[in-house]
Amino acid sequence: MIRFFNTLSGKLEPFHPLKKGEVKLYTCGPTVYDHAHIGNFRAYAFEDLLKRFLVFMGYKVTHVMNITDVDDKTIKGAHSEGISLQEYTKKYIDSFFKDIDTLRMARADHYPRATEHIPEMIQMIKGLMEKGYAYAKDGSIYFSIAKFPNYGRLSKINLKELKPGERVELDEYEKDNIIDFALWKHKKEGEPFWETEVGPGRPGWHIECSVMSSKYLGETFDIHCGGTDNIFPHHENEIAQSEAYFGKKFVNYWLHCRHLIVDGEKMSKSLGNQYTMRDLLEKNIDPLVIRFLLISTHYRKMLNFTFKALEQASASLGRMKDFLYELKNHPFKNGENKNVAQIIEKTRKNFAEGLGDDLNISVALRALFEMIRKVNSFIGKGKIFKKDAENLTDLIRCFDTVLAVLPEEKEDILPEEIMIKINEREKARRDRNFELADRIRDQLAKEGIVLEDTKDGVRWKKVRT
Ligand SMILES: [Zn+2]
Repeated sequence: MIRFFNTLSGKLEPFHPLKKGEVKLYTCGPTVYDHAHIGNFRAYAFEDLLKRFLVFMGYKVTHVMNITDVDDKTIKGAHSEGISLQEYTKKYIDSFFKDIDTLRMARADHYPRATEHIPEMIQMIKGLMEKGYAYAKDGSIYFSIAKFPNYGRLSKINLKELKPGERVELDEYEKDNIIDFALWKHKKEGEPFWETEVGPGRPGWHIECSVMSSKYLGETFDIHCGGTDNIFPHHENEIAQSEAYFGKKFVNYWLHCRHLIVDGEKMSKSLGNQYTMRDLLEKNIDPLVIRFLLISTHYRKMLNFTFKALEQASASLGRMKDFLYELKNHPFKNGENKNVAQIIEKTRKNFAEGLGDDLNISVALRALFEMIRKVNSFIGKGKIFKKDAENLTDLIRCFDTVLAVLPEEKEDILPEEIMIKINEREKARRDRNFELADRIRDQLAKEGIVLEDTKDGVRWKKVRT
């Protein structure tokens, strides 16, 4: 059984998709006004883990992630650089895709863009006006939340604070401001706009997700994710728009991940701790270590991102890689140990049950590392055989379809201590300490690792000693 914590009910609920064996998943994507930072990637990593786990459990997942390429922030950014919105957002869209590939996030089935769905938005806005949920004021169109009695169910806000008739034009606003939000914003000097049936202007932020989720996933679908900061107002407004328009339930399961802090502090540009992927890659941090760290804290707990935590993640990942290396390279004897089959089955069960329990990654990883410890001691005692090693490798590779933290199968794996030496030599070379670099190269040669310096960096190959 799979169960998830549903923000809507505030409870853990057994998961039953609308259609047996299939899951329709919508996750709020990037607003492409800047390079995404690790706080954003925490949410995307959680969603990737969720999706990969559902696939692991045999579901066919249809995943849609929107790209917000027109909103207050993108317009402001384009304006300050004096370039078109399209030109401005393109570089951040490219950067986003590059980063998610680096972090091995499985691509969604669709990445619809707001600017490519204006006609559909107009259709929904017109429908909301016809049904009496929306009204025009000074060229803009607002959703009247007093007309939607279920408003506030997701965020559990106190509707006593409701200020009927007051309006907000901004895309983002605070919880103490429960007022009518903009579906369509009137044309302003110096801003991009579309000529439409409801007048010239541009969409508010929230309408795109209602429009694009229904277009690609249907009027009601299974799971909608985001960060807890999306609950109000964004997701609350999505529910209001969609349920008012279609007259049916919008989403069955709402899953939200908590935010990330850095060195125990709130992440912010002014503190200089709002790391992007390029910041971390410049510090020579392995992206798979970043991924491991991002997924290894339960999504509903706050994640404290520190360099110490990255080191620990690197050590854990190193244990997995060493294990895989050992399974591949140890001279096992022919045969099979029946106890190993039992260990494999138990580990597979605990891994799946852990993740099935609201994506409890700690339980899943504990099962994996306990198995590694046990099998390593068996190897030491000569109790692992060729067939066992094959089965264990298959199991690790199968788990990695969910975790996605190991080098790919076609890549060779080196023991962690050797990788550390290679990195040390790289650093020595950068520091122009060639004596140290040469010494490390000689040490590695003794262990059968030959290094080659190419213009794309150092490559290594194993030679039989
Ligand atoms: Zn959204």
